[in-house]
Amino acid sequence: MSFIQRNVRTWMLTELLTGMAKSFSYMFKRRSTINYPYEKGPLSPRFRGEHALRRYASGEERCIACKLCEAVCPAQAITIEAEPREDGSRRTTRYDLDMTKCIYCGFCQEACPVDAIVEGPNFEYATETREELFYNKDKLLANGDRWENEIAANIAVDTPYR
Ligand code: SF4
Ligand code: SF4
Repeated sequence: MSFIQRNVRTWMLTELLTGMAKSFSYMFKRRSTINYPYEKGPLSPRFRGEHALRRYASGEERCIACKLCEAVCPAQAITIEAEPREDGSRRTTRYDLDMTKCIYCGFCQEACPVDAIVEGPNFEYATETREELFYNKDKLLANGDRWENEIAANIAVDTPYR
């Protein structure tokens, strides 16, 4: 670019106006960001978020303490203890899940024969302390109660592909 051309561009504010025109054009384009946390993007039914233990509609726990999830977990994040009840059914007395070890592979929910342990749609469970990420059975069952509608809907959508 010659000396004269450069001076013309400078005195005519060409570059400034070009930049402003570019900025102005984006005011009428569709936004590619969302106003999180007030807006949230769509989640796949297969999204693997916070774990939950589900119950049947009767309120009975689904888990039959088969320990398949514990055996399959590659991170050894699950610890289960179990004993038979008076009615002969087998239930867990301890179901601990160390969320700091979990790699969210989804193997536990794939292995579960009764869809008891699942990875639900909740991704907002950041904590201030490490200890809060050591989940016990009560915490997991409470998650199941809280998210049952969403989890059941996601499983129903995904069932034809399983
Ligand atoms: S998602 Fe994977 S790593 Fe996490 S508890 Fe389940 S099996 Fe273990
Ligand atoms: S959550 Fe499922 S796989 Fe794990 S022990 Fe219970 S029934 Fe078995």
